[in-house]
Amino acid sequence: MGRPSIPMKQHKDKHRIIKMGTRKKVHAYVRFRPTDEFAYDMISFGEDNKSVDIHIKKDTRKGIVNNQQTDWSFKLDGVLHDASQDNVYDTVAKEVVAQALDGYNGTIMCYGQTGAGKTYTMTGTTENYKHRGILPRALQQVFRMIEERPTHSITVRVSYMEIYNETLFDLLSTLPYVCNTDTPMIIAESPQGIFVKGLSVHMAGREEDAFSLLFEGETNRIIASHTMNKNSSRSHCIFTIYIEAHSRSLSDEKYITSKINLVDLAGSERLGKTGSEGQILKEATYINKSLSFLEQAIIALGDRKREHIPFRQCKLTHALKDSLGGNCNMVIVANIYGDANQLEETLSSLRFACRMKLITTEPAINEKYDAERMVKNLEKQLVLLKQELAIHDSLANRSMVTYDPMDEVQIAEINSQVRRYLDGTLEEIDIINLRQIQEVFNQFKIILSQQEQEVESNLRRKYTMIDKNDFATISAAQKAGLIDVEGNMVGDTDGQGFGLGLAPFTSKVMKKTKVKKPFKDFGALLKKETPGSPGSVKDGESVSTSKTQLLSSKEVDVKDVPSRDREASSSEPIQSESPKEETRPTRPSTPPPKPSAFEEFKNERGSEINRIFKQNKTILNDRRKKASEAAQRINSIKREIDSTKEALNVQKTFREEQGEYENKGLMIIDEEEFLLILKLKELKKQYRGEYQDLRDLKAEIQYCQHLVDQCRQRLLSEFDIWYNESFLVSEEVQSPPKTKGGSMRLGTIPLSKLTSLAEDDEDKFGQTQLSNLTDCPDSVAFYNAKMKLDQKQNYSKTMASFQPKKSVPIVLKEKSPSDYNLP
Ligand code: ADP
Ligand code: MG
Repeated sequence: MGRPSIPMKQHKDKHRIIKMGTRKKVHAYVRFRPTDEFAYDMISFGEDNKSVDIHIKKDTRKGIVNNQQTDWSFKLDGVLHDASQDNVYDTVAKEVVAQALDGYNGTIMCYGQTGAGKTYTMTGTTENYKHRGILPRALQQVFRMIEERPTHSITVRVSYMEIYNETLFDLLSTLPYVCNTDTPMIIAESPQGIFVKGLSVHMAGREEDAFSLLFEGETNRIIASHTMNKNSSRSHCIFTIYIEAHSRSLSDEKYITSKINLVDLAGSERLGKTGSEGQILKEATYINKSLSFLEQAIIALGDRKREHIPFRQCKLTHALKDSLGGNCNMVIVANIYGDANQLEETLSSLRFACRMKLITTEPAINEKYDAERMVKNLEKQLVLLKQELAIHDSLANRSMVTYDPMDEVQIAEINSQVRRYLDGTLEEIDIINLRQIQEVFNQFKIILSQQEQEVESNLRRKYTMIDKNDFATISAAQKAGLIDVEGNMVGDTDGQGFGLGLAPFTSKVMKKTKVKKPFKDFGALLKKETPGSPGSVKDGESVSTSKTQLLSSKEVDVKDVPSRDREASSSEPIQSESPKEETRPTRPSTPPPKPSAFEEFKNERGSEINRIFKQNKTILNDRRKKASEAAQRINSIKREIDSTKEALNVQKTFREEQGEYENKGLMIIDEEEFLLILKLKELKKQYRGEYQDLRDLKAEIQYCQHLVDQCRQRLLSEFDIWYNESFLVSEEVQSPPKTKGGSMRLGTIPLSKLTSLAEDDEDKFGQTQLSNLTDCPDSVAFYNAKMKLDQKQNYSKTMASFQPKKSVPIVLKEKSPSDYNLP
């Protein structure tokens, strides 16, 4: 027979801890060992028997100026002086044991210096029934209460473990049916809590069986101390009673579990006093260490702000992890001497007890669900509900309705229905039952995601996509000259990107146009441009200059303007045929070239708007720089997060290799790992913050961009007006209403010639262009034609490029760099 252990059932069933919301303090009692030399002059008790006052006389040898403390007062839950075992049990343990039967875990610990009565309190004397301690009495109470609860089937199991020099010993391993293995026992964690792997847990069907197990353990404790040369006062002993209560009513799926830990701690006396050497010293060091770790854990538990409790520092605290504080009922008994010469240890034990009192616990019921019972009950319920449904269907004259899960054929049918519904061949989908409705939705979702994928893969086949947040790729693309600094595509040559397809001149806008005299020659120019005619260009060539800007305001009325422009800035300007112009002496016979005129305009009438334009651009560039910096910071934080995660993983693997981490359950981590977790948390916070900043910056950039565009448009249209008024247009032509600041009027000049603007290499005329195009799609043909003319006349000194819509990813056409024909 193998080592009996906690049945598997506990691991597979659902586990729930029900908190009652009542917080409780740890109860601390002090028990005095009887002595003939009780120091009544130094130790006194409060009237309510809940406090101990200690007073010592000043040590006169320490001089007149003497800060030595001489008075202490300790508040406790009870002082047990000359108390019988009976009385001690009732005061200390009875309630804890009673509550264990209701599903609350309980822990009772005895703490104190060697010989102060810890073992006497916990185990008592085995030869005298009257002097039996808490352990046998607790077992008795458990069995008595079981008898009082015939409605429940309650099982009791026990284990008895000793921790000596940081090694775990099973005090019940000598039982004939326990299979001894050489693998050392280890403390492990599971979702159900802490358990000791390899520790035998024994069923106790009757009170008598439980006592036998206790005596077996006690005997082994004594024998082991001789055979292994152990000093029994230096070991910790943990006797655990496991209780599991199932209702006898099979319909009740819930059951409760609990455990009572009864702990006889090692002597708490300090090392200096024992005068230990060699082996003894080693033992004493271990004891002091584990007790001081216990104390550290207690202090941490008492401090509500502490998140991390160092349970794993030693076997004792690790084994008691879920029995110290937490959801347990917890009691501590400080065993002390009343003798004057032991006062120092007495004080230290009282201090420990008071520290324990600072801990609050929140006792909770450990409730579990019996999976087997649950399945059986659900099956029963299902049968009943199906019967009920059948009755409803027959009453409603519905036949052929099934409620079973759908098979593949049925699902395929629904899929086809949904598809037909989506392309309109099916008018509506009949509702049959809930399951069918759910499947319809499910198929909708599937079809939607398939379509999304199709669209994306179509796009990918056609374009190379760059994530707008992928700054590295964007900057590489910028370097390659595929996109400009703003992420706009450069040299969109086939016209598809922006719908700048070739369109006839008979576009709507053209038809509307009233051709005024100065533009009569436009027709002649158009003729020149027809394919085959000298100076005409092929489509491919024309599009290579599509970066030529086609800026105009939203209200472009006159589309024949370009002819004028061409004249104006051609290397051999065509003489104006307009008699009116000739009659105006103030104007030069040949208008000045646009670039120089633009410079002049910026210093003159356009100075204010140019200033604002520049200012806005400075702000825009500043924001862009900041955004790029923020992106870099985000990347570096991300790298740090990754490396911290990696370090954490290493820690985790190391922890798992140590075999102390069971999985899924509560994590036990050491300080280093804890610090890494904190660091990771902080980094993630930083990351979120930076990310938010970047998003804000992007919004700001978009806004600034809009302002810059507006200014640019305004500047250009004002220039147009100014230029026309100053050099080209007759008074009568100048008269058309100036509706809006940004509107263009007769004589609008193609921006392709405003080469002076190209000095601002971040100018993005394309943006204005795009907004114009989207506002007035019919103008596409016009702009295309104009573009061709521009090229033909070799006005291809351009300054900016196309601007794809901001909201979509930057789309780069798959082309060779030569396609871009960049200046
Ligand atoms: P500890 O376990 O703290 O080292 P023990 O429980 O072994 O101390 O007690 C030492 C001795 O004192 C034992 O012989 C025990 O029977 C006796 N003793 C301790 N406390 C009492 C008490 N309250 N009444 C009677 N005897 C006691
Ligand atoms: Mg003892």
